[in-house]
Amino acid sequence: LTDKVMAVASLPCITQDGRAIEVLLNAGLSAGFEHSAKLGALGIGLYRTEIPFMNRNCFPSEQEQTQLYRKVLQVFPKHGVTMRTLDVGGDKSLPYFPINEENPFLGWRGIRITLDHPEIFLVQVRAMLRANQGLNNLEIMLPMISGVEEVDEANRLINQAFFELKAELTKDITTELMSASNEDGHLTLQQAQQKAQAVTAKVVRPKVGIMLEVPSVIFQMEALSKRVDFFSVGSNDLTQYLLAVDRNNSQVANLYDAFHPAVLNALNSIAQQSAQCLTPISLCGELASQPAGAILLLAMGFDKISMNGHNVPRIKWVIRHISFEQAQNILDKALTLTTAKEVHSYLNEQLEALG
Ligand code: PEP
Ligand code: MG
Repeated sequence: LTDKVMAVASLPCITQDGRAIEVLLNAGLSAGFEHSAKLGALGIGLYRTEIPFMNRNCFPSEQEQTQLYRKVLQVFPKHGVTMRTLDVGGDKSLPYFPINEENPFLGWRGIRITLDHPEIFLVQVRAMLRANQGLNNLEIMLPMISGVEEVDEANRLINQAFFELKAELTKDITTELMSASNEDGHLTLQQAQQKAQAVTAKVVRPKVGIMLEVPSVIFQMEALSKRVDFFSVGSNDLTQYLLAVDRNNSQVANLYDAFHPAVLNALNSIAQQSAQCLTPISLCGELASQPAGAILLLAMGFDKISMNGHNVPRIKWVIRHISFEQAQNILDKALTLTTAKEVHSYLNEQLEALG
């Protein structure tokens, strides 16, 4: 990256006329992204928990997961860290959890697996909640949601884990207080319990959000918004499912395009509906790390975009060199175009004009 671009890395991501969009990081391996924290990202928008599950030979224990998540949360103690629950299936497999099916991207994937195996889900959520104790910057995100029942069931399990952990913590603190007061007996059991409850009352349930990546959610946003704290678009999967194009099949790679007019209109509708529902909206797919994509998302009204660390300076540079009004004009025109090819040539022209 040029010095010119790197110079803006730690500056706020704000347009020339003062419109802000937050830039966050996508992360999966704990090594390496501490550096990106210094590149001026405002937290983690997507931590892909399945990655550390992949290069092992058995499920990590609750304790192992707690330690790992704690390290991740500590990279941004003052910012939100969004951890996505296990998103295996599709093209991501665990050697110790084989899945054999004909259409894996349409099959047993993401939340579908973890709701069928609540023991896997509960251990993971408990580990996240434990790691969050005292930090309180965790946000939980659910992948591959296609309807409200999945959200209700996941929320039920998250609440279960939360209240169980709170009860355990209260018990542990009570025991500690009692043994400390054993010598002079200044506390009754009831007093110790009350003190412990006062401490655990401060343990807050983290925000819970869902990924918008299955097209069915575009038509259920109001009902979904009542059940969650935030939405985050997974544009990689949304593109794949909206266009019915396998994201990894080179035979049809020319058809896979996040700038396809149908995808842009879906994203615009998502942004408008989120605003109506007063639900924060972000995007964590590859589209956010492309300058033209970031401009369109800014104009649509996305609150946050999340990307790999090395893209942060470049995207900030672009946003800082455009006005919100210019971006809106570009979006308005782009939404009238009818093919991906037209969209690309129009956006390329606009980017060249920006320098
Ligand atoms: C996406 O689908 O856009 C996304 C961010 O998740 P993943 O690429 O891990 O499926
Ligand atoms: Mg996805």
